[in-house]
Amino acid sequence: TEKNVIMDETAIRRALSRIAHEILEKNKGIENCLLVGIRTRGVYLAQRIAERIKEIEGVEIPYGELDITHYRDDREVEGSEAVVKSNVVITSGSAGIHDQKVILFDDVLYTGRTIRAAMDALMDCGRPRMIQLAVLADRGHRELPIRPDYIGKNVPTSKHEQIEVALKEYDGKDEVYIISN
Ligand code: 5GP
Ligand code: MG
Repeated sequence: TEKNVIMDETAIRRALSRIAHEILEKNKGIENCLLVGIRTRGVYLAQRIAERIKEIEGVEIPYGELDITHYRDDREVEGSEAVVKSNVVITSGSAGIHDQKVILFDDVLYTGRTIRAAMDALMDCGRPRMIQLAVLADRGHRELPIRPDYIGKNVPTSKHEQIEVALKEYDGKDEVYIISN
């Protein structure tokens, strides 16, 4: 097993700063925008982006959390769809997702099934005006037509490689690794 750092603290900080600016540029500000982090680490990414946007624009952006729990690993049950239980909690400053531009955050994007489940969960709560996707690392191997709008780093991986994301709030440090077996 080999473990290599692909993003250090500085690289993560710069990538998140860039994404904050890209979000502001694409949406021409943050009016009607809502950040939603997918638990666990997506929540901290959404919070950091909210803080960064506040520094840049001087405005608070509402954010929330989404918990996607896989009942079973669909990759092991051939022909079955991902079965998920999900729960959306809007944490601060928002009346809900109706007619909002929802920006979803996750740490790693792989097959896209988690994001599909997240979009289903969101749309069960109301009708967002638009959904956008931000990820810290995109490792490829999509199985659904899902593409992120904001990417910290593209990391072409083999299916045997894994990405490990450490964030200060949860892991005590900021670092992204690639692990090859
Ligand atoms: P997907 O549903 O796109 O196949 O996988 C994405 C979800 O699984 C994300 O919530 C992500 O946290 C997790 N995930 C998938 N692959 C990896 C990986 O290589 N490293 C980490 N840290 N998480 C992964
Ligand atoms: Mg996850």
